[in-house]
Amino acid sequence: MSGAGYRLIGDAEQGNVLQALQGTLTRYRYGQPGDPSFVYQFERAVEKVFVAPHCLATNSCTSALLAALAALGIGPGDEVLVPGYTFIATIAAIVHSGATPVLCEIDDTLTLDSADVERKITGRSRAIMPVHMMGAPADMDAIMTLARAHGLLVVEDAAQACGGRYRGRALGTIGDVGAHSLNYFKVITAGEGGFLLTSSAEVYERAYAFHDHGFKPMRDGASEANSLFGMNLRMSDLTGAVALAQFERLDAVLTATRRVNAALAEAIGTLPGLRRRRRVDAPGDCATSLIYLFDDAEIAAKVAAALDTTVLRSSGRHYYGNMPQLQALASGHRGPAPFRGRPDSALSDCGVGTLPQTDDLLARAVGLSTGVSDWYAGTGFGVRLDSSAEEVAAAGARFREVVEWAQR
Ligand SMILES: *Cc1c(COP(=O)(O)O)cnc(C)c1O
Repeated sequence: MSGAGYRLIGDAEQGNVLQALQGTLTRYRYGQPGDPSFVYQFERAVEKVFVAPHCLATNSCTSALLAALAALGIGPGDEVLVPGYTFIATIAAIVHSGATPVLCEIDDTLTLDSADVERKITGRSRAIMPVHMMGAPADMDAIMTLARAHGLLVVEDAAQACGGRYRGRALGTIGDVGAHSLNYFKVITAGEGGFLLTSSAEVYERAYAFHDHGFKPMRDGASEANSLFGMNLRMSDLTGAVALAQFERLDAVLTATRRVNAALAEAIGTLPGLRRRRRVDAPGDCATSLIYLFDDAEIAAKVAAALDTTVLRSSGRHYYGNMPQLQALASGHRGPAPFRGRPDSALSDCGVGTLPQTDDLLARAVGLSTGVSDWYAGTGFGVRLDSSAEEVAAAGARFREVVEWAQR
């Protein structure tokens, strides 16, 4: 199991880490001579390639999401619309901000269903958080149109889709803020780490302050700290050293995942009773996985079990029904969110069955790895970005064989 970029770690990462060891190991130089830190260089490189006015590196994507919500002033009394299919970190960031997560359906793209979002908008709604799940973009035109019509903010969770694009624009640069992850299982990795993107100088300053004890960007004018209470969510320069080298490999990683993804899809071909998930922008897909939606949930479960994996509905903490924290919070337990003031009555409706369309789709979905192999996320079976043509052909043949067996 690993992310895609992890497979390509090599001389560049090693060289950068050795060089980082000569510095202060943090993003600040503290009076020592030398080049700008790797964290600083990484941020500027991301801004250039993704065409984003501001990038802020953090120690994780969870931190980036929390900093985004803090920067946008989202908190208690606000509702944030989020898909019921996402990694639990998206919902955790909303919960810890004090806002109320409002679960919404996904559609056959396995990303946010904007028709359901529209139905769930209330007078307390403040933001929509689309998640670009399994490397493919959510339908951002529909989401942005809805957000503008209702005066809502948009925070893109692009943790699983670094380098993905929607109509030519980098994911994470379309909404008010976008958040990316560099953890071990993602498109590119530094072990841990994340970053956020925004076009607003004001949002960037607040996010920076939240991530570093209220300081201004680069601690410029340290005595004039921002007025908010910040945390320490900074990226270490050892992480920055690996992150920069990995970011410089992003095109190579995406070319390789797209190649094996297309080869595996071709080896599988068309089979009755299943189809690929719908993609709103196929060329913008990071192609780290290949997802099939079966007509029949029982057959999907049989196929997944035979391949030693699970349907996506059973993947750990990626489906709202596998997040007992939600119901515990709704029933007034402090345990799942110790900093919140009171039980959240708005959260009363979050048990399995709340999102029937999501329940149905995920029970029929089987994901094959074509770059990101993560048993916990439901892509335990598949190929890697460096698999040979023979390995890809064998995996395709095995999938076909299992499907035909399950359908007999
Ligand atoms: C991995 C992931 C996160 C959290 O990323 P970390 O860097 O591990 O904090 C958030 N959202 C989604 C959709 C993810 O897949």
